[in-house]
Amino acid sequence: MMIQGDRNGRCPQPCCFEFAVKKMPETADSEKTLVYRRVILKLSGESLADSGQRGISGDEVEGIARQIKQAHASGCEIIVVIGGGNILRGAAFSGANAIVHEATAHYMGMLATVINSMAMQDALEAVGCHTRIMSAIGVDTVAEPFIRRRAQRHLEKGRVVILAAGIGSPFVTTDTAAAQRALELEADVVLKATRVDGVYSEDPEKNPHAVLYQSLTYNEVMEKNLKVMDATAIALCRERGVPILVFNFKQDGNIVRAVTGQNIGTWIGPQRRV
Ligand code: UDP
Repeated sequence: MMIQGDRNGRCPQPCCFEFAVKKMPETADSEKTLVYRRVILKLSGESLADSGQRGISGDEVEGIARQIKQAHASGCEIIVVIGGGNILRGAAFSGANAIVHEATAHYMGMLATVINSMAMQDALEAVGCHTRIMSAIGVDTVAEPFIRRRAQRHLEKGRVVILAAGIGSPFVTTDTAAAQRALELEADVVLKATRVDGVYSEDPEKNPHAVLYQSLTYNEVMEKNLKVMDATAIALCRERGVPILVFNFKQDGNIVRAVTGQNIGTWIGPQRRV
């Protein structure tokens, strides 16, 4: 199959679903399989914990690591951005009477993402993936500093890059970091892993009649105030036309389905996907 694009394999049409794909090695199914060249996988901290719990579950982390390995084996470069909500979110300390300054609490939240990244690194290495953690705040004994060119080099060498500490500044979330790094590292899509099948009209756990959207535009997400990612992240993706796929990582094999462009979850872009 011929795929047109610039020298990086990017399709000149930013809204094209099959953009930034590369051809798989020749196998019986290879003609059917399209793979994003480079993706950002955004995992919330809660995805590392047992459902409804806090902290880190070895089983959950291992399950995600196995899925990432499978996705990586499809030929896609993977950048993992991990949150810290299973341990601490800085906003929990907002308010004039909080004993911990909110900015301090956000740095604590960033450290939580470092803890999660370390767990994910060991799990990935245990299943045979080479990795590097790159942190946006200084934690030199456990992670490299985030340097864009070095991150690109790691990806080219086939390493999964785990980005810790978001963007290294307080008062934002790792959703914003995922969007920001997608632009910096020229990722083709932001894959937002959730525990539900995609974006619903309402909370499906509260309203069983909530509708699952197959596709949305950035503007629809913002106008309907849908809880997808924070507004800064959506705005950054909209500005540069980076698509977002919201999908259920709890269904085994969905991470590889996401990176191979299969029709799962809710796809968000400049236009609805047909
Ligand atoms: N955080 C921050 N700057 C960043 C990224 C994260 O201050 O660039 C802090 C913020 O307090 C955030 C916490 O780290 O609440 C944990 O990240 P997040 O809430 O995104 O985790 P998730 O909800 O994805 O588990």
